[in-house]
Amino acid sequence: MIYPIVKFGNPVLEKPAEPVTVFDGELKKLVEDMFESMYEAHGIGLAAPQIGLSKRVAVIDITFKEDENAKLVLVNPEIIHREGTHTQPEGCLSIPEFREPVSRARKVTVRAQDIEGKWFERSGEDLLARALLHETDHLNGKLYISHLSALKRDLMKRKIRKLVKAGEW
Ligand SMILES: [Zn+2]
Repeated sequence: MIYPIVKFGNPVLEKPAEPVTVFDGELKKLVEDMFESMYEAHGIGLAAPQIGLSKRVAVIDITFKEDENAKLVLVNPEIIHREGTHTQPEGCLSIPEFREPVSRARKVTVRAQDIEGKWFERSGEDLLARALLHETDHLNGKLYISHLSALKRDLMKRKIRKLVKAGEW
């Protein structure tokens, strides 16, 4: 099932998501649907609040279908290590049409549970590190625009309000 992507302005995006405690068939189906919805929206990462569900689940595939092994499921993830810094343009499926440079750690390690509930650690650099940070932020109710200057963020919000008014959001 393909879910519509929730856009900026919906409060579900800005509140911390609920921890997952049940690892069952329903969760497996949700993760499948999230990959499907992410690919449909041409994204490389998607967090459950982006489909309106306040659950600590995120999916990532920075290869966009090229490498089946690159598919990553994060349940209840937590960033446990950050190293270095780099700045790259970043976007978000919930804030379409916008991209802004964001400074983030260049290398990170995440601790998360897999679809069976087993804990694992995964390190990533560059784009993968960025995706791990971006998606974990989502589960904490934080959007990438919170890393921008107040000036830039207000400008974006103003543009978005105009789009909302015009019925284009
Ligand atoms: Zn996002």
